[in-house]
Amino acid sequence: MKNNILIIEDEKSISRFLQLELSHEGYVTDCAYDGVTGLEKVLEDRADVIILDLMLPGLSGEEVCRRAREDGVTTPIIMLTAKDDVSDKVAGLDVGANDYMTKPFAIEELLARIRVAIKNAPPKKEDANVLKAGKLRLDKDKFIVTYDGEEVPLAKKEFDLLEYMMENKNIVLSREKLVENIWGYDYEGETNVTDVYIRYLRTKIDNKYGTNFIATVRGVGYRFDCKE
Ligand code: CA
Repeated sequence: MKNNILIIEDEKSISRFLQLELSHEGYVTDCAYDGVTGLEKVLEDRADVIILDLMLPGLSGEEVCRRAREDGVTTPIIMLTAKDDVSDKVAGLDVGANDYMTKPFAIEELLARIRVAIKNAPPKKEDANVLKAGKLRLDKDKFIVTYDGEEVPLAKKEFDLLEYMMENKNIVLSREKLVENIWGYDYEGETNVTDVYIRYLRTKIDNKYGTNFIATVRGVGYRFDCKE
């Protein structure tokens, strides 16, 4: 998955330069040119790193940063400051910025700091409700499964089965156990209903993307394999 970088910078020439350089490095960029719009985008919580100018119209970078942290946004913030002023930098770090750079800066240094920020970033809030295996992502809240960013359309029972298997990855799950958990104890049908749904999942995921997530354990049931 490509990392998203949010650029909040009112100087169009710097913003444009950052967009070009970051896209060239393979990042997806989003921009805001004032503090108010910037904060709105920050609170959407889609960025992996935020580059935040200190002096902004509407709302200062410091204020954007402070409100973001108050709201529980944990995204790394790299502050840009035009002034080579120690007190500004310290203030930026005090309100929750992770790093800062003084303008003019060398793009190589900013890129290096972005890589560090991504590497050290705490897990996002949503991660508790997102199951991952390689490029496969299952979002419990949004009821969406994607593979490498592409949506995998699943029916409700297929989704439930995949969710249960991903939550119990690398564990052999008997057909009976799967039926109990997905269809319920009072399910009257045959346990081979699991075989049918496993086949659907394989068609939509393993066969389509050339993966081997769903293993058959002969005579017992199935196992969701994930080496991570
Ligand atoms: Ca500015």
